[in-house]
Amino acid sequence: MTETVDAPAATRIPHWIGGRRVESGSGRSGPVYNPATGRQTGAVDFATVEEVDSAVQAARAAFAAWREYSLAKRAELFFRIREVLHARREELAEILVREHGKVFSDALGEVTRGLEVVEYCCGIPQLIKGEHSEQASTGIDVYSIRQPLGVVAGITPFNFPAMVPMWMWAPAIASGNCFLLKPSEKDPSASLWTAELLQEAGLPDGVFNVVMGDKVAVDAILEHPEIAAVSFVGSTPIARYVYEKATASGKRCQALGGAKNHMIVLPDADVNAAADAAISAGYGSAGERCMAVSVVVAVGDVAQPLVDAIRERIPKVKVGDGMDPSSEMGPLVTQEHRDRVASYVENAPAEGATVVVDGREGVPGEGFFLNPSLLDDVTPEMKAYVDEIFGPVLGVTRVGTYEEAVRLVNESPYGNGVAIFTRDGGAARRFQFDVQAGMVGINVPIPVPVAYYSFGGWKGSLFGDRHVYGPEAIDFYTRGKVVTQRWPDPATSTIDLGFPQTR
Ligand code: NAD
Repeated sequence: MTETVDAPAATRIPHWIGGRRVESGSGRSGPVYNPATGRQTGAVDFATVEEVDSAVQAARAAFAAWREYSLAKRAELFFRIREVLHARREELAEILVREHGKVFSDALGEVTRGLEVVEYCCGIPQLIKGEHSEQASTGIDVYSIRQPLGVVAGITPFNFPAMVPMWMWAPAIASGNCFLLKPSEKDPSASLWTAELLQEAGLPDGVFNVVMGDKVAVDAILEHPEIAAVSFVGSTPIARYVYEKATASGKRCQALGGAKNHMIVLPDADVNAAADAAISAGYGSAGERCMAVSVVVAVGDVAQPLVDAIRERIPKVKVGDGMDPSSEMGPLVTQEHRDRVASYVENAPAEGATVVVDGREGVPGEGFFLNPSLLDDVTPEMKAYVDEIFGPVLGVTRVGTYEEAVRLVNESPYGNGVAIFTRDGGAARRFQFDVQAGMVGINVPIPVPVAYYSFGGWKGSLFGDRHVYGPEAIDFYTRGKVVTQRWPDPATSTIDLGFPQTR
């Protein structure tokens, strides 16, 4: 969003550089809304190239001391960060509800899953350990160490304003780097809140910085010679752009993109369990999850009972303001996004799909609401099938066989999450072997890996070769060094011009 707004009543959301709030001098800002009311609540500053540079300089200045910080002290600090964040998790969840729109219980779930990554990072002394070979050659020992890269950056999407940044800053900082975060301009307050909390927990100033902004800030990060690595999570076209630009300027980069996640239901599956899963994974967080189920692939004669079971459940989903404890699904993030998502329902009949439930009807309140929608007879050439809708629109594609279902998934340009519902262990095992996706659920609709495994998709869902969080994150944010050492007895020293050989 590059819109400039004039909203004197709205809260100004500035940068966090070198341990303090810093207002931008750009004169540019973006609107932040409460999606449940549709009203603007904030105006987020948009950084200039110079402001990005000043955050990099703050991070650089902090790096020398931060990389000297012992592993014992880092682990102790991470335990403290975890405690402070955990104690105030409801406050953070409320910020998410008010700017993103997701319901409070879901926001709390986001914070909890993010905190699991922080907890994992409390084990940094163990995670960053190298290897040692005594007497690799006579009188010679060889060992490996992993060292931080320096200043690293994270660029994050709107849909997980607390958790996705935690996927990045926690392992980056625990590994000894200084970090610069460019959060989504749609819901930036969680990042500022986190910065203040990290300071309160005792993180030295300059180790964590937040630069607010749009493409100007992103480009400045991608071009900055003193940023060693960039982690990105967002849509596929921007992920590709970020990866190409970052690597062209010599940076390490992992860029996670969009998704179109399929849930295959085999004829032997429990129809009620599959329908419950489709509702939860299709409409949770109003479908604004990169792991949301977007297409249900119904194999054989399970299709009609499954569509009926999903349709029966939809009216029971309570849509409303995320702070209302009875709400199960909130609004979409902006009016523009809500209208784009609704257009898939509007265009479905012309494409040849059947609108089983039209979520544009009976929408509550003034905010950016859209009720759950269900499309049937969706086929692979339709836009409703091809595009990442990123909203509460679930499509059902009917196929005849397991092979057709797997072919659909494997022909998708995305490869983030996928799920199969069946009671047949052999079929599930075959599926895990056949399917081209990074995260597979077997009777689990949203298979987000636990914090001690890494998260990432295949194909257009990830550019780069390292997944986020878990062991691959420690690898991503460090580089290896191998030391070969000898402590010779001066009496045995000789000259040898030959290439060193082990003996
Ligand atoms: P987005 O790509 O629009 O924005 C992501 C980030 O890129 C934001 O910080 C934004 O400011 C920046 N950006 C946007 N346009 C840009 C441009 N032209 N040049 C440079 N930077 C730009 O994504 P979003 O709408 O915020 O988030 C939703 C998307 O993120 C969905 O596609 C979703 O699937 C994806 N996502 C993927 C994962 C994953 O793990 N693969 C996780 C969460 C979200």
